[in-house]
Parts: sequence; structure tokens; C-alpha cells
Amino acid sequence: MPPSPPNSTCAVLVVAAGRGQRFGGSLPKQYAPLKGELLLRRTLRAFSNHPKVTQVVVAIHPDDGAQFAEAAAGLAKVTSVHGGAARQDSVRLGLEALVASPPDLVLIHDGARPMISAGLIDRVIEGLATAEGVLPVVPVVDTLKRVDAGGAVGETVPRENLARAQTPQGFRFAPILAAHRKFAGETLTDDAAVLERAGGRVVTVLGDETNIKVTTMDDLARLTASLSETRVGQGFDVHAFGDGNAVMLCGLKVPHTHGMVGHSDADVALHAATDAILGAIGAGDIGQHFPPSDPKWRGAASHQFLRHAYDLLTARGGSLVHLDFTIICERPKVGPHRAAMVTSVAKILGVSEDRISVKATTTEGLGFTGRQEGIAAQAVATVRL
Ligand code: MG
Repeated sequence: MPPSPPNSTCAVLVVAAGRGQRFGGSLPKQYAPLKGELLLRRTLRAFSNHPKVTQVVVAIHPDDGAQFAEAAAGLAKVTSVHGGAARQDSVRLGLEALVASPPDLVLIHDGARPMISAGLIDRVIEGLATAEGVLPVVPVVDTLKRVDAGGAVGETVPRENLARAQTPQGFRFAPILAAHRKFAGETLTDDAAVLERAGGRVVTVLGDETNIKVTTMDDLARLTASLSETRVGQGFDVHAFGDGNAVMLCGLKVPHTHGMVGHSDADVALHAATDAILGAIGAGDIGQHFPPSDPKWRGAASHQFLRHAYDLLTARGGSLVHLDFTIICERPKVGPHRAAMVTSVAKILGVSEDRISVKATTTEGLGFTGRQEGIAAQAVATVRL
């Protein structure tokens, strides 16, 4: 077989016509939301952005035109064709759509594998320099058992020479088109099998463990979790002592020889925590959300400030991993109230107490806290987005 020319045209055929019976939910899995966009869009972007890919044809179900338009909006090189009843039909129809202007190479990929890397695309294309078909594979690491209908183990299957097949599977265009035409209507499980059946030679390249196929809701949940990022925000606040007989700390009224001066209830710890959460999501600071110039917040209970920041976090799909306070003062003593403060903050946010930490320290008599002129508080919020 002659080597493929160095400037080969390379089309990608993405199969996205399935109904996803195993997935559940109202939409096929390729149109499920993943990190704020449709899953298929992430798949298409990987190919659309790849410099060696000249066009991307997506085999879609005739009912999915609107969802496809959303998934492909603004992506270069991407067009669609109606697929068929079974996967193999959709691939053949997609290949036929390329015949008018045939590429040298075609990569055939499952729409529900959104974690495709540029490196894997490169490996498959490079493999086609000397083979008609290229299959990305990952090793089988678990021991394999043949299990009967009753759940009993029949035998242990040797895993030597076994591998798990992924996509994109790459092909010289002419032989894979001929093979699909020849075996139309059969139900071979992947395109490498179609070429093998036609007598073509398929070689393997290393796949990616991260290149998973989303088949169930659990797969989608695991993928979403793996894509989440952890962020940290910090907050700091100070209020001065004034007249009164109690101070608010972490939403708790703590008896003291003084009160705190402030526009709201002057809960220095909750103000620091509010800023910590706002900082973690890049949503400004407490003064922007609750201006001290607004009479509405005079004497306000600060738990509503913290709750507002937390609601902004959850509205973005985020969650609080941990919130850690340091309260800095000589008096009142925080220790006797620490457990109640943890409970109070956990209650305000509706999170478990093991996500909240309250610590206290003094400044050894130094500075304004040492002179007992006021209280300072720091908070560090760790969030997952
Ligand atoms: Mg404040």
C-alpha cells in the first residue's frame, strides 16, 4: 500500500444520531449539558479546532436539527447529514455524504466521547501513513471473567492480547467506504470491524483513558465531577468596639463588655466569610452587593449577606467545600463559643458542620486588637465549580 500523501485531506465523521436508550432523561446523551454547554459541542470543538482536520460531518437524527444547530453554532468546518436507524447505517450515510468531494482520510468518532485530545487525533492520523485502518486502544487492567446467566463465574479469561477499542478510528477513505457499502445492513459494533470483515488491515495506537464514552447518567456525573475545578477565596474585615453588652460573631450573640460599631449588625466574621465566597467566584465584594450607604441595611442581620454570596455560588453550579474562620481579638474569649459558632454558620448555609472551621487567636497585646479597640476576622472559602 502506498503511504498517504503528506498533505492528505482528513474528514471527520461524528456519529450522533442515536437515541441513547440506556441514558434515560428526555434528551439523547450527546445533547446532555456538560459544564454549561451541550456534550456534543465539546466533541465537535476538538475536531473543528484541529489544524489537520479539513471538514467535520455529523450524522444526526432528523428530529435533532435544533439541538444540533445549538451544538455546532459558530464552529468552523462543521455540517450535518441525517443518519439511519442503526449506528452502522449512520456511518454509511455519512460516508456517502463525503463521496462528492472525497477526502483522503476519514476519522469516525462517537458523538458521546467529548474528551478527545488533539494528541490522540494526531496519533490516529499518523498511523494512517502506513495502514488502511487505525484503532486507538487502551489496555485491559481488570481481570476478566466469563459469567453465566445466574451470576456464577464460568472461567477466567486471559487478558493477554486483549485491548479496549475507542474512537476516533481512522481510515483511508476509499477502503472504508467500500467495506461499509459491502456490509450495509449488518450490525458490526465498530468501523474497524467493518474494515476487518472486508479483509483490511487495522493497526492500533495508544488511546486515552480519559477518552470515555458517556453511556449512562452515572458516566455524565463522573465526567462532570472530573471537569470541576477548585477555587479559593479569602476575606478580611474589622469592626471597632462601641457601646453595648454583646457582639455578633458567626451569627451568634456573644455577651461582652462592649458592642460593635457598624452599619449592619457588625458581624465581622460573617462579613469576612461573605467576601471569601464572593472572592472565590469573582463576584466583587460585600460593599458592592450591600452598600453601607443604603439605609436598608442599617442594623441588618449579616447572615443574609453570607447567604446571598452562597446562593450566587450555587446558582453557578458550585458547592462549598470548606469555610475556615480566624477571629482575632483579646476579648471576648472565642473558645467557649466555638462549637456554637460552627453550628450557626453550618445552619445559615445548610451544609454539614465538618465543612466549617472556627479558630481564634490574639495579637499578643499588639496593635488595635491587642489594645482591645476592635475585632478582626479572616475567612478562607474553598469552593468547587
Ligand atoms: Mg464589615
